[in-house]
Amino acid sequence: MVFDEGIGSAGVTRGEEGGEVIRIGAAALYGGDAEVANAIAHEPRHARHYLRHNRFESDEQHGSEESVADGTPFGAGNALQNWIEGRR
Ligand SMILES: [Zn+2]
Repeated sequence: MVFDEGIGSAGVTRGEEGGEVIRIGAAALYGGDAEVANAIAHEPRHARHYLRHNRFESDEQHGSEESVADGTPFGAGNALQNWIEGRR
């Protein structure tokens, strides 16, 4: 997991890097500690999916802004953010 201020999002995991490099971007830092934790919890779900299936997208459930602890990347990130913010 590396900080990469060159990406235009909170985080990204790329197939061309084998799903083995998780990049956290500057956008993850704007909202404070809980927002950073959200991105840090979100991206490993993508990496695990890629490592298991050698692809993204086709059958990966991404969740939504409302997802919490449902096995999706959004669910993982929101669960940790909610816990840090005392809502879980
Ligand atoms: Zn995602």
